[in-house]
Amino acid sequence: MSKIILTGDRPTGRLHVGHYVGSLRRRVELQNSGEFDKIFIMIADAQALTDNADNPEKIRQNVVEVALDYLSVGLDPNKSNLFVQSQISELTELTFFYSNLVTVSRLQRNPTVKAEIQMRNFEASIPVGFFTYPISQAADITAFKATTVPVGEDQMPMIEQTREIVRKFNSVYGETLVEPDILLPDNQACMRLPGTDGKAKMSKSLGNCIYLSDTEEDVKAKVMSMYTDPDHIKITDPGKLEGNTVFTYLDAFSRPEHFPEFLPDYNNLDELKEHYKRGGLGDVKVKKFLNNVLQSELAPIRARRAEFEKDIPEVYNILKKGSDAAREVAAETLADVKRAMKINYFEDMALIKEQSEKYSR
Ligand code: ATP
Ligand code: MG
Repeated sequence: MSKIILTGDRPTGRLHVGHYVGSLRRRVELQNSGEFDKIFIMIADAQALTDNADNPEKIRQNVVEVALDYLSVGLDPNKSNLFVQSQISELTELTFFYSNLVTVSRLQRNPTVKAEIQMRNFEASIPVGFFTYPISQAADITAFKATTVPVGEDQMPMIEQTREIVRKFNSVYGETLVEPDILLPDNQACMRLPGTDGKAKMSKSLGNCIYLSDTEEDVKAKVMSMYTDPDHIKITDPGKLEGNTVFTYLDAFSRPEHFPEFLPDYNNLDELKEHYKRGGLGDVKVKKFLNNVLQSELAPIRARRAEFEKDIPEVYNILKKGSDAAREVAAETLADVKRAMKINYFEDMALIKEQSEKYSR
């Protein structure tokens, strides 16, 4: 069986370092591994509209921002198909058919959607489209017969929902759809990178982000004001690592070679952590190290972005070509689905013959 990747992001803002460690960095590795037959990367504008219906301009502006972020981290349109969700109308049709296979109570149990409803103050008036977006996500994944979905931890319930829909569809209508596997980051800190404010998740909607496109100065200012251990007041005080965002970021970003380069007094992260716990190591020194680590990771991304920003029409052209190619694939799956559901009347010669015999008797 072919190995196929589908993943994507909502164009609700520029992409941040949480996206980077949670998904983007892995995507680029997978892309360059040559192990996959096809890679589809989707800008989920239709999904973004489910909770931004009154602000289409925001979504429209951010499509190209996300595309620039993709290109800047090293996603290569010659190897990965970059496309825009709303341009593939087949996805909406699949969503409509799959919604017959999902109950309201099943959707209500989705913990990520529950948390998102609370965060958006939607409790009293949840848009139907937002409530059902896990079904549309199942359409996105299955339309491309994806076997692998590399995403952050918050996407686990969505992939589980997709797998259920696939099993249900195949059991009712016959083997048609492919059950995907989730591919989570292998490092705990990357599963759900906290915000610079220490809040549970770095999120475009919470304004606690370090963006891939932030300037060197912005990154430094954000790092220097990051949340650490509130009880670590004097340098000599022992420090706590749990919930200490600076150390979580070091878990996500630092590599052994960063120590000789930026902090030669320590051999590795474990030694740095031990010293912090013991007391005698100040937050500023750790933050300066984190800043160096982040800058070394982000500088080449920033430089590549600047190159792509010089030719915006070409960026749109990449998305258009990707969308045209994606549509062909989704159309094939939709045809398979309609055939399985027996709503392919005009190509079903046996049906036409059977009906005409019935009336010629
Ligand atoms: P929004 O607030 O609009 O939902 P978001 O920041 O949550 O935006 P998404 O576009 O919903 O971003 O998510 C895109 C991908 O990035 C998903 O795979 C998601 O799991 C991953 N991701 C998002 N935030 C983080 C994070 N803080 N840590 C790790 N992965 C993340
Ligand atoms: Mg999200």
